[in-house]
Amino acid sequence: MTQEHEIIIIGGGPAGLTAGIYAARARRRTVLLEKHGAGGQMALTWEVENYPGVEKISGYDLGQIMERQARGFGLEIRNLDVTGIATADGMHRVSTSEGELVSRTIIVASGSRHNRLGVPGESELTGRGVSYCATCDGAFYQGVPVALVGGGDTALEEAMFLTRYASRVFLIHRRNEFRGTKLLQERIAAEPKIEPVLDTVVERIEGADAVNGLALRNVKSGAASRIAVEGVFIFVGTTPNTEFLRGFLPLDEKGFIGTTPNLETAVPGVFAAGDVRAKVLRQISTAVGEGALAATMADHYLSH
Ligand code: NAP
Repeated sequence: MTQEHEIIIIGGGPAGLTAGIYAARARRRTVLLEKHGAGGQMALTWEVENYPGVEKISGYDLGQIMERQARGFGLEIRNLDVTGIATADGMHRVSTSEGELVSRTIIVASGSRHNRLGVPGESELTGRGVSYCATCDGAFYQGVPVALVGGGDTALEEAMFLTRYASRVFLIHRRNEFRGTKLLQERIAAEPKIEPVLDTVVERIEGADAVNGLALRNVKSGAASRIAVEGVFIFVGTTPNTEFLRGFLPLDEKGFIGTTPNLETAVPGVFAAGDVRAKVLRQISTAVGEGALAATMADHYLSH
């Protein structure tokens, strides 16, 4: 049977959960749809230290608190995968893994997911030495060397985390300068276990049943080399979760959603918040602010 809501929030990361808190407090008939657990990408972060008001907390714990807080205000959260949206007569019909939901407004807060490197050995050895989550798998590499690929904030933060376990962390980046925040770069430089391997790309991940090394190439000299490692962690950026919006909303060339400053998309009554938006800064703090604004705009839309 088709259920009717005033606000449907798609995604349970910091943007979606904050939208949920505001929508529930506005006493709008709201449901939040999340296909995995609360917290989104944030839940995979071992430590959050730049969210004002909380000096240090694990991303997983912060997600759990946000979810508890949202449920406390009466938000309904359902574990559903959204497969598509269509609009007719001002009503949005959301197709899910368990049937259709109907709503006058939608907040898309579906976030993003990690990219794959796309080199030989990666798919074959995923779960057998190739990982995309240091918090989940770091402890398997006690006292052994590992490599980490990437140069953004995620790569630098997770490299620091891996020094708790690994004997050595090769930090492989394709340029000679990291993209991540200067503070993190200073920490990397001061950490003796981390060895930056710059201007270098991974050509192949090697190993029969488990990772035993990486074939590398220096992009400036062209020189090939090999390092022996038992694990490789890949943090080479993210891709927005917007496949279900193709044909419904215009997306930019990378799949992100463009919005007005008030988070309106090209479809009236549909708003977007958090990492899924085309924007400069992707942080928990920005996602939270956008979640609050999107819910407020949805509330105004329903009132007028
Ligand atoms: P990102 O900022 O897009 O960085 C991706 C990194 O991977 C870049 O260094 C990039 O190299 C490299 N890369 C991309 N494709 C590659 C390829 N095919 N081969 C080799 N290297 C490749 O992604 P992110 O670090 O996951 O961060 C995502 C967003 O979340 C960012 O906006 C970031 O600021 C934010 N974030 C913030 C925090 C924090 O504030 N504490 C923590 C985590 C994430 P180039 O530099 O050469 O492009």
